[in-house]
Amino acid sequence: MSCEKRYNVSAKEVTSFKGGGNIECVVYPSNLSDLIRIYPTADYILGCGSNMIIADEGVSGTALSTQKLTDISYDDNYVTFGAGIKVSTLLAFCARHGMGGFEFLAGIPASVGGLVYMNAGAFGSKMSDVLKDCLVIADGKEASVKPQFGYRHSDIEGVVARATFVYEKAEPSKIKERIFLNLKTRRLKQPSFPSCGSVFKNPEGDFAGRLIEECGLKGERYGGAMVSDKHANFIVNFSDATASDFLFLVDKIKKTVYYRYGITLEEEFRLLDENHGRLSHTHGIQRL
Ligand SMILES: Cc1cc2nc3c(=O)[nH]c(=O)nc-3n(C[C@H](O)[C@H](O)[C@H](O)COP(=O)(O)OP(=O)(O)OC[C@H]3O[C@@H](n4cnc5c(N)ncnc54)[C@H](O)[C@@H]3O)c2cc1C
Repeated sequence: MSCEKRYNVSAKEVTSFKGGGNIECVVYPSNLSDLIRIYPTADYILGCGSNMIIADEGVSGTALSTQKLTDISYDDNYVTFGAGIKVSTLLAFCARHGMGGFEFLAGIPASVGGLVYMNAGAFGSKMSDVLKDCLVIADGKEASVKPQFGYRHSDIEGVVARATFVYEKAEPSKIKERIFLNLKTRRLKQPSFPSCGSVFKNPEGDFAGRLIEECGLKGERYGGAMVSDKHANFIVNFSDATASDFLFLVDKIKKTVYYRYGITLEEEFRLLDENHGRLSHTHGIQRL
């Protein structure tokens, strides 16, 4: 069976920043055998695009979207989600079935595959705390993998097809309450404009947001992009921002923080352009 394919798909549609260029082709496998078949032809892997900026010039080639990989299964101890399941769906399912331990994800607009690949975390917890293992496809082979994790990093090579998590049995009402509280905290601290989440990783023992704020960069604008005045580690798209507007501010922040503190901030977002983000099937995975 052939997979859905779309051409010239814009960053407005596939990234949470909602600015940037087009992807030449996006293909949407909806089951494991399609995923195994499509993976070797893909140049990029796309989850919800909540950590991604696509260069204004756009990118050639094919992105594999995990959006349609939405299977769910569970037993008494573990729950398995397809890579394309979104956090909102995951949390609604877990709350309904009394599966606790995932409430820290509330408000992250991401997919299961992206969360695992990035080892996403919030409120003192991270994906590596709850992951049992994941099914990874790489060049025709599938393997159950227990990745090595670091801060917003995993050593996964290939595409996560699905991931299995350990859950804690909990009262649905308690789970819903924790989700509600986490969402409330997020709304108080983070901007509501489109963004790609935290722009920089926190340097050892400090917070990128604090350093940026201390440099007086909150509210700094370029084109349609602005360093959020609510949280300095977010760059928001307040008015038709381009990827170049975003990257201009990234550069300005990096230079200013380095000049003042001698600290080189490291980007957390993923840049898709002709030089970055592309998969290499001949030399193992090479992506930033
Ligand atoms: C408002 C907002 C709040 C956020 N809050 C947080 C937060 O609290 N904590 C946090 O850690 N992050 C946060 N983020 C950032 C982002 O949501 C995470 O990095 C998330 O893990 C990205 O998931 P995604 O599905 O959107 O992946 P994408 O952005 O689509 O992709 C990110 C990377 O993962 C790879 N990838 C995606 N799916 C797969 C897969 N199935 N297999 C292999 N590789 C894959 C991509 O190739 C890319 O390199 C936030 C973002 C926004 C916009």
